[in-house]
Amino acid sequence: MYGLMMDTPLLIWSLIEHAKQNHPDTQIVTRGTEGEIRRYTYSDLHRRSMQCANALRSLGLQPSDRIATLAWNTDRHLELYFGVSGSGLILHTINPRLHPEQIAWITNHAEDQILCFDLTFLPLIEAIAPHCKTIKHYILMTDAAHMPSASKVPNLLCYETLIQAASDQFDWPILEERTAATLCYTSGTTGNPKGVLYSHRSTLLHTYAICMPDTLNISARDCILPVVPMFHVNAWGLPYAAALTGCKLVLPGPGLDGKSLYELFEQEQVTLSAGVPTVWLGLLAYVKQNQLKFSTMHRTVIGGSSVPPAMLKTFEIDYGVQVLHAWGMTEMSPLGTSCTLKHKHAALDRETQLAIKCKQGRAVYGVQMRIVDDEGQTLPWDGQRSGHLQVKGPWIVREYFKEEGGNPLLPDGWFPTGDVATIDADGYMQITDRSKDVIKSGGEWISSIDLENLAMSHPSVQMAACIAVPHPKWDERPLLIVMQRSGETVSKEQLLAHFQGKIAKWWMPDDIVFVDTIPLGATGKILKTKLREQFADYKLPETFNAR
Ligand code: ADP
Repeated sequence: MYGLMMDTPLLIWSLIEHAKQNHPDTQIVTRGTEGEIRRYTYSDLHRRSMQCANALRSLGLQPSDRIATLAWNTDRHLELYFGVSGSGLILHTINPRLHPEQIAWITNHAEDQILCFDLTFLPLIEAIAPHCKTIKHYILMTDAAHMPSASKVPNLLCYETLIQAASDQFDWPILEERTAATLCYTSGTTGNPKGVLYSHRSTLLHTYAICMPDTLNISARDCILPVVPMFHVNAWGLPYAAALTGCKLVLPGPGLDGKSLYELFEQEQVTLSAGVPTVWLGLLAYVKQNQLKFSTMHRTVIGGSSVPPAMLKTFEIDYGVQVLHAWGMTEMSPLGTSCTLKHKHAALDRETQLAIKCKQGRAVYGVQMRIVDDEGQTLPWDGQRSGHLQVKGPWIVREYFKEEGGNPLLPDGWFPTGDVATIDADGYMQITDRSKDVIKSGGEWISSIDLENLAMSHPSVQMAACIAVPHPKWDERPLLIVMQRSGETVSKEQLLAHFQGKIAKWWMPDDIVFVDTIPLGATGKILKTKLREQFADYKLPETFNAR
């Protein structure tokens, strides 16, 4: 017997309809590419998303055609989020920090029909346009006044001109909820980038989940500023969550330095932000240098890579900003876990609470997790044994776009994340490494993340990365690469002394190398592949014997 409830499909346009109806005058604020502030409401966003859908329809597209964007977090990008997916097309967000050749490869692979881009990326588009075989129109996301008088980009249209000419009445289609809505490629550090094709249903379920109190706890009383880019896994789903809850939304455009962000936090009374740790390094440095405080921001989501405990403490203790450590991946829409305490943790002292908050957290309802050993045997949740982390759930990839890279799932339907983790009896998962970054020394594993976190807890260390280097006796040993804070110096011996007593003796880095910069990838994470290349000929000092 079936239940007798309505079968309303879960569709992305329903979010913007809801926001317009229930939060028509709530503000959406954008800092544009020229630094100008634009301000409008959910009602305006709704109207302009419909105009956007009409404008695209007038360009003669077929359902499920891919519309690519190379754009910052702005109001126009947001209109494309709703106008493109809402009208049955697929929004393909591209990371502009990827190599130009890779961007061209991705647009060809996705068979994008239209590419919408911010003015910042005009030189990039001019360079790659001859290689993008399927794109029929390029849309510059600006107004007529900022259009270039001459450009090498073929069929170049102006976004504002298109919007103004389009009707603001649009009948959103009743799609099957499994219809594809957005496409996002993984960075492809090994092999070709792989496209993850989210559906309306997966997006809506994920949106519900991330708003929950034990996840990101988003409500109509919030003002969110997503630093995490809308070109990377849909800004962790925050644009959709904003429409679902009707919170105020602040979009920072390209200005992601500490000063620009801090000004927006204060001017717009932001309560919640989200981004990768490297972004917060810049912000915290600016705030400290200028002896500032956050007057309204009381929560921040940090994910994408492990939160250094020193950063967590600075936010929580020095600035009174609660850190929500979250873990996920492009293949997971992205959220898998978030770290909030339980009722029983209230009685614990602050240090112990903060130690729990450094973990990646508990599974969001909808995501199942397990850890397994090298033989595939499921491991206990004892917080000790670490194993390969695998997941299942309705917003997790089943197959990559065009089956690139083969079947991603294991025979029993679980998705291997490539992360190595422990899970404790309370369900708190802690990533100890990426499978490919773990340092295998004498048959045992050393966590590169633990060593990096420990290094970054030294006041003179800005950033640290730990990689494995070959060793004749132990197979691999840890090499620590350190970037110091400007104006500070720490010696190798001082740093090793800082490690003393905090880790097992055999975990001690065999050497420490100081560098001016540490390479970051397209999503702001440390590029260990690049470091491994850089240190390919590196020889460990002979005198060192860690065990
Ligand atoms: P890419 O790095 O290729 O852009 P993703 O953004 O999908 O891909 O990255 C997913 C990976 O990032 C995870 O598998 C994990 O290794 C890492 N990651 C994400 N969040 C965290 C976190 N909170 N702590 C540690 N690692 C994380």
